[in-house]
Amino acid sequence: MDRWPIGVFTSIDAGLGLHLPQVRELGVRTVQIHAPHRGQRDNEHAEKILTMLDQANLTVTAVFGGFKGESYADIPTVGRTIGLVPAETREERLAEMFDISSFARRINCNVVALHLGRVPHDHNTSEYQDVVDATRQLCEYCAKNDQNLHLETGQEPAVALRQFIADVKSSNLFINFDPANLILYGVEEPLDALKQIGHLVRSVHCKDARWAKNPGQEWGEEVPLGEGEVDMENYLRTLDEIGYQGPLTIEREIPQDPDRQQREISGAVQLLENLKSSLR
Ligand code: MG
Repeated sequence: MDRWPIGVFTSIDAGLGLHLPQVRELGVRTVQIHAPHRGQRDNEHAEKILTMLDQANLTVTAVFGGFKGESYADIPTVGRTIGLVPAETREERLAEMFDISSFARRINCNVVALHLGRVPHDHNTSEYQDVVDATRQLCEYCAKNDQNLHLETGQEPAVALRQFIADVKSSNLFINFDPANLILYGVEEPLDALKQIGHLVRSVHCKDARWAKNPGQEWGEEVPLGEGEVDMENYLRTLDEIGYQGPLTIEREIPQDPDRQQREISGAVQLLENLKSSLR
């Protein structure tokens, strides 16, 4: 593949993101997909999805897991509901991630990704150790399927995420870097973070945002690519510096206004094409 193939976050039957006919209109060649619902991940459904992807001439570069009961309503709710962090649902969600890894294998995808949730800050607690252990188990499962596991950035500063990955001690654990999340959650300047964890970044989202008035207490604002405070040109320059050549996956979810979503994603494709050629 050429450097930086453009992609888009896609929904086939579950989760948010563009649907395949809209993806085709954009002319991109790679997608990350949200894992289909439970019951739609067996061989038969995987075959159907493979055929659809083949007809659309698309390569899946990552399968993202997500769970019932997750909510991004506000920052504290994220801490309580997202990923493998909440203890009450950890075991069942871990089992679901195993199933998603097997589905990803069926569609020939070597990358499984997820929002792990807000990792506990105190490393000396059993709570922290339990999240480390669950992540290691998932890495081991993915390794048997010849897959890497990518953690979405957002809620941790780079240094905390790097420490967490070191504590898990799995050689197939990497990062899906999302610069906008660091602004939305009010964590730190995304390009500073990218320089610190660049060696662990194996996939990225292209998403833009503006800082909140009170970062970390309320959400920042997600905006069309190029209109926020990530600084897309410098983002690509920094990706180049860290040696990242993989897909640039656009993530923009406006389910209540599909026309606007399509228009903005199309604008984002154009912006990235322009930046790619100016940075040759
Ligand atoms: Mg993202």
